[in-house]
Amino acid sequence: MATTQFEAVPAVAADAAASRLGTVVMKFGGTSVGDPEKLKAVAGRLAAAREAGNRVVGVLSAMGHTTDELLDLAHQVSATPEPRELDMLISVGERISCALAAMAIHDLGHEAISLTGSQAGIVTDTSHTKAKIVEVRARRIHEALDKDRIVLVAGFQGVSTEQDVTTLGRGGSDMTAVVLAAALGADRCEIFTDVEGVFTADPRVVPGARKLHAVTYDEMLEMAASGAKVLQLRSVEFARNHGVTLHVRSTFAAADGTWITEEDERMLEKAMISGVTHTSEETLYRVEGVAGSQLFDELAGAGVNVDTILQTGPEIVFSAPAEDRKDVEPVLERLGVQWSAREDLGKVSVVGAGMRSHPGVAAKTFATLSGLGIEPEIVSTSPIKIACHVPGDRLEEAVAALHAAFELDRPEAERAHA
Ligand code: ASP
Ligand code: MG
Repeated sequence: MATTQFEAVPAVAADAAASRLGTVVMKFGGTSVGDPEKLKAVAGRLAAAREAGNRVVGVLSAMGHTTDELLDLAHQVSATPEPRELDMLISVGERISCALAAMAIHDLGHEAISLTGSQAGIVTDTSHTKAKIVEVRARRIHEALDKDRIVLVAGFQGVSTEQDVTTLGRGGSDMTAVVLAAALGADRCEIFTDVEGVFTADPRVVPGARKLHAVTYDEMLEMAASGAKVLQLRSVEFARNHGVTLHVRSTFAAADGTWITEEDERMLEKAMISGVTHTSEETLYRVEGVAGSQLFDELAGAGVNVDTILQTGPEIVFSAPAEDRKDVEPVLERLGVQWSAREDLGKVSVVGAGMRSHPGVAAKTFATLSGLGIEPEIVSTSPIKIACHVPGDRLEEAVAALHAAFELDRPEAERAHA
């Protein structure tokens, strides 16, 4: 197991090894627990997994838009809510889901217990609203599982080394689930959501997009970073570092979804490209009159998540999420540089672990865009991704054309194997 700051305490790891057989962590997102009927259905799924012989840990998100509503409430009371109190407030949503689910499970004739992040032994650092997990003390979960209980853990939260309630950042319930799966030595971490899995492209843009049977951790990281919204990026990184097998699937269907695992030759034999992702939520900046070292240091200090960077001579071009613009502008103003920003571009990315060993992917990408008369504004690459910034009003056309060019509408693109 890789050693990172998230490593479980040795005593817990030893316990886990003894009882690892058959533990499953099942995480349900906000839409999956959106109302009492849905919560009851989730209780049914957890109970069914128990009846199938698994030791079951459920990690739940807050119901529907609860977290947004609580944040909104805080901002109605204070323009700059105290971060510690914000965490006390927004951690409540997940506790509601867990307590209700435990009640529903009891009615189905099973034993269940709901736990806060703190009770579940999730210890974090002290940075409120974006805490990092530093340790998991899973003794209480193990004890409950040993008593045949279904354990419900409130997602998105923990307790700091100074004993305050903390939250893990938006979408943080994924992180709770993956970290618990690693600490408990679970067979797999199932992420139940309102889509059927990870697709070769957004099915709303490409109706012929296919549900992928399998993607590698690295592909999922690239896809999550370039527009696929199904999983929190940080949780995929953690799953990769700790070898946690992820299964993203629908809450509302029985079918298998997408497995996220180590690279397996059979996956790439079937299709070297896993998908075409896109995002239009990026701003592209052009800056002159500052050294990159100073610019990016200050942007990092302001918490800006810089994506693509391109430097030619004195000009620096970079992209960042549109929502970060409010943090970027003050930095550029303070530096007194010459700058401009564009929001009329979108980014389309071709992702696939197979491109490491197969030439021609870049050539085909350029040829396809050029066939549409699209000249990318910027192109950036990683060993398994080619990303092109193109005019926003042609983005969807570009996605569809690349999806067709790489034949992702064929059954082989799903990478299904026995
Ligand atoms: N409820 C939290 C959020 O909306 C955490 C999560 O759902 O993962 O961000
Ligand atoms: Mg989520």
